[in-house]
Amino acid sequence: MAEGLYCVKMRASQEGRHISGAERIVPSAAVPSVVAQLAARALKHSKGVPDFVNVKVERPGEIVRLKALPVATNVTRTPAEGRALAADLLRGAGIGRIDEIMALFRETYSMRGAMLLDADTLERLEPDRARGVRATCMDAADSIAKGSAADKNHYAEAIVLATKVQHAPGIVAEICVSDDPDYVTGYVATRGIGYQRITVVKEKGDPSGGRIFLYRGPREQVPETIRFLEQQAVMVEDVPSLDMCHVGRARARPSRMDILADELAAVEAAGLGRRCQVSDAPTGPTTVIDGKPLLVLSSNDYLDLARDSRVTAAAAEAARRWGAGSGGARLTTGTQPPHVALEAHLARFKGTEAALTYATGYMANVGTIGALVGKGDVVLSDELNHASIIDGCRLSGATVMVYRHNDMDDLERRLAGLGVCRRRLVVSDAVFSMDGDMLDLPRFLEICHRHDAFSMIDEAHATGVVGATGRGLCEHFGCGHPDVLMGTLSKALGSEGGYVCGTKLLVDWLRNRSRSFIFSTAPGASAMAAADAALSVLEAEPERVARVRENAAFLVEELARLGVKAATQSAIVPILVGDERWAVRMAESLRAEGFLVPAIRYPTVARGAARLRVAVMSAHTRADLSLAAAAIARHYSGGE
Ligand code: PMP
Repeated sequence: MAEGLYCVKMRASQEGRHISGAERIVPSAAVPSVVAQLAARALKHSKGVPDFVNVKVERPGEIVRLKALPVATNVTRTPAEGRALAADLLRGAGIGRIDEIMALFRETYSMRGAMLLDADTLERLEPDRARGVRATCMDAADSIAKGSAADKNHYAEAIVLATKVQHAPGIVAEICVSDDPDYVTGYVATRGIGYQRITVVKEKGDPSGGRIFLYRGPREQVPETIRFLEQQAVMVEDVPSLDMCHVGRARARPSRMDILADELAAVEAAGLGRRCQVSDAPTGPTTVIDGKPLLVLSSNDYLDLARDSRVTAAAAEAARRWGAGSGGARLTTGTQPPHVALEAHLARFKGTEAALTYATGYMANVGTIGALVGKGDVVLSDELNHASIIDGCRLSGATVMVYRHNDMDDLERRLAGLGVCRRRLVVSDAVFSMDGDMLDLPRFLEICHRHDAFSMIDEAHATGVVGATGRGLCEHFGCGHPDVLMGTLSKALGSEGGYVCGTKLLVDWLRNRSRSFIFSTAPGASAMAAADAALSVLEAEPERVARVRENAAFLVEELARLGVKAATQSAIVPILVGDERWAVRMAESLRAEGFLVPAIRYPTVARGAARLRVAVMSAHTRADLSLAAAAIARHYSGGE
């Protein structure tokens, strides 16, 4: 809430037709005079005498500060010249079908708001087409200090509006033709070329005009774009005065750092800002952040092995014996006995011929996918796969086909429809990292086999959690292996790194072709020794696996008893909330009560599918989980 500031909005109409509108964000002391000035302005407008004037005063929410777009004035003599220039500017900004866009100005005159168009298909995206989308809740920062609201300053108001619009998610350009019969100016605005004022775009006395916002992005994002335009309070700083702005056709460009600063401000405004917090305690079921003790319900250290004395002793001993860093890539000098020992142990544990370790799980995915498929090949990927798989698919250069989540019929259909291609790879999370559900592995393998496709699963969240002794999905289903069994050392194994298990042929291939394996320094011996020791603990104490799963089932039951729906097939218990801001507020309230439960938002999950993601550890007690469930249920029902 912006202390002491108020948004004053004026709208005037005649027989339901909009004729004038303006708004200011001002300190409370200025509200009475601004209300009077805006009312006076409504009563004298060249579009007619209003029969209805509405002046609304409200407290804005959080205010985002944006730097005004740079301005250039283009002097044109005729409407035809002005429109040709507008078309040129749009074309330069990568917009096509300009004649069709310009023709749509016929329809904007009667609209109160702007037209929101898909920049490529020209589809209308506003929920209410007669009204359009109104960019409101904004002012120039320095108008607080100076400025009377009595006279319309077309120029400054338009820059404020254009600046806000160009910071709305997905907006790529705006074109505006003044709808004031006495004011013949218009503009084209984009982030790249700034605000390009065009002095003459229509005949004097012509009352037609309006605004078109061009949008490029996913459809699910449109509501957020409209929310930003219509509700987000924005204060625009450094609006240049008319005499300061550049005259001519030079293209003004915001500086590269200004672009970053502005985009970051928009991310923060959408509730999607991110920062690191320092956990001031050893990895485990409790931590301390900013001096506050917290129960950790978000750790991937599922079996509490990261702080296990056998694991940390192995890491310390290996660092002492082999050095803190490996000093080289695996194929030069970076392979030491702990690397070789761990690979043999991983292969034994997973029941494969061989294994290969990577510095991280992310690198294992990226490097493996890129080694198996490339240009001319096809990779099929579940729509909920982890980002490292998505990046691996993109980087590989293969054609990527995304199939519906865990929908084996969809996968089968897509494979059956493939024409001739060199190779095909199907890749899936074993346990899905944001939903906690499990791949239907037997059908997956059968389909891949029938279509002669490489099969690859990512067991990051399955190893140590799924299967009677934590060996993962093959153990759980009692079925054969996929071609590639990828996993991480960074979760249930309490260390860091990634691995791939498979045949000797596969591992030899990766050693020769996997770029993230070849061109990166080998992980240090201590991480390898720690994972090796953790594997030994896991083999000796399979009851840890049973405990983590019992804990997850117990939490789901407790939540259900309290009216919160959740389900899991692993240690990950997602609680769907939907709205991003609400999820963040719930996480904040839980944290204030001592529970660390992260809100997972776009882009990690789809927009509007925000959730709390609880991760259960074997070390949680029933009492911990009961208290957490009660707190979650309390805040969950508070939001409905
Ligand atoms: N795959 C999945 C499913 C994951 O959840 C993660 C990590 N969050 C990774 C791969 C990447 O592993 P790492 O953190 O070791 O890079």
